[in-house]
Amino acid sequence: MAIYTCLDMIRDCRENKPEGWRYLVTRYVPVMRYLLGQYYGARSGDPKLLERVLMKLRDPGSALFAAPGPGTEREFVADLRQHFLAAVESDQASGRPEIPLDLEVMTAALEPLTATERQMLWLQGMTYTHAAAAKLMNLEPSTVQKLRERSDELLRQKMDQWKPGLVASNGLALGAEAALAGGKDCLPAKAFLDTIDGRITWSRKQDYESHLAQCWHCVDRFSRIREGDFALRETKALSPEECAPWFELLGVPEERKEKPIWRKVFAR
Ligand SMILES: [Zn+2]
Repeated sequence: MAIYTCLDMIRDCRENKPEGWRYLVTRYVPVMRYLLGQYYGARSGDPKLLERVLMKLRDPGSALFAAPGPGTEREFVADLRQHFLAAVESDQASGRPEIPLDLEVMTAALEPLTATERQMLWLQGMTYTHAAAAKLMNLEPSTVQKLRERSDELLRQKMDQWKPGLVASNGLALGAEAALAGGKDCLPAKAFLDTIDGRITWSRKQDYESHLAQCWHCVDRFSRIREGDFALRETKALSPEECAPWFELLGVPEERKEKPIWRKVFAR
């Protein structure tokens, strides 16, 4: 029997078939828990939050499955993250940063930063500590820390009002701005997946890096795909017992046991 994959799930959820929603619960509720802990640790005391968010994503008006699906699981998780964060924000919006920072100022101030350095910094806006970002990127925490300190100093030189950690406090707004900032030369997801998997030549790497050094949209997408790759490795699927209350919440019937073959044949 063919293995049911994330891509089958995307197709089935678009057609509102129970198989799709069952797979979403089994494999991606753990990913959503990971995201909740990463981005909204302070709200983790609200046991119903994840339920409300999942209901929003299940809603027929939800954008999660509105567009034709991504081509790989890691891209799906990078997209899911966007819809998940938007749903949590619509439940209760996060406070605005005291000192705003936008991409225009970032671009001007951080011009000397390389593609890799931009990701180390961008992950700070995605709430990753020095150590956590280092883990996602296979680097030393001290390397990430030094780069972030240097970035703070570069921003300070360009801004009238400043304090350390502006990328972190503006992460949500910067992410929203970057998501809309793509252009026709932007890199395909395959570029990021191949880089993570070490399947690229030196010259392709050079091309990607020169684009990343001038495109926050791609830095953001790459960072989200790195996060998706990590979240999938760090989480495991729910057991049937763990799934049951979620199926009930979403109104998805549990999988029926296979009927004996003669009943299938004579079923109509
Ligand atoms: Zn780009």
